[in-house]
Amino acid sequence: MEVKVGASTLELVEGDITRQDTDAVVNAANEALRPGGGVDGAIHRAGGPAIEAECRQLRGCPTGEARVTTGGNLKAGYVIHTVGPVYRDGSHREPELLASCYRESLKLASAQGIKSLAFPSISTGVYGYPIADAARIAVKTVTDYLAQHPEIERVRLVLFGRAAYEVYAQALKEL
Ligand code: ADP
Repeated sequence: MEVKVGASTLELVEGDITRQDTDAVVNAANEALRPGGGVDGAIHRAGGPAIEAECRQLRGCPTGEARVTTGGNLKAGYVIHTVGPVYRDGSHREPELLASCYRESLKLASAQGIKSLAFPSISTGVYGYPIADAARIAVKTVTDYLAQHPEIERVRLVLFGRAAYEVYAQALKEL
């Protein structure tokens, strides 16, 4: 599904983040920026060792912030690495840190002249964020940003599997 936000487009698709043809893809990274599991492992496997080498130079990334590397062998020219919060009980700034991941990634895209980017569902795998709550934060934060930043033409939220897609579609409808 797809909605217009001002001049920009917000799109939800079911798919694999490593196969997206957007200018950039976002990685659900860890603070060390070392290859891990889930999205991170998939991006490093598909993108090749150049991404890991660039990550090493960056010396980590705090939770809620974002860093950029090139895309290695991916179709996307860039990878934006952002570190989602590990979910404990929701009272440890998890909502604001998750919103910050989306916002800081988008700010970095604007600064780099990136016009389209694809996000996975940050923090909802190993980091344990309840997906319905995470989906509401993702669609709200991206929509608010696009309303103010027409230079970003397209944001694609890439959901792994039908169930995750349905949760995000519901969050977008309720917005
Ligand atoms: P985190 O550590 O931030 O929780 P994960 O990579 O463990 O990140 O998972 C984030 C979300 O991405 C989960 O919902 C997971 O199902 C999904 N996911 C896993 N692999 C892929 C992939 N190749 N493309 C898109 N989404 C993926």
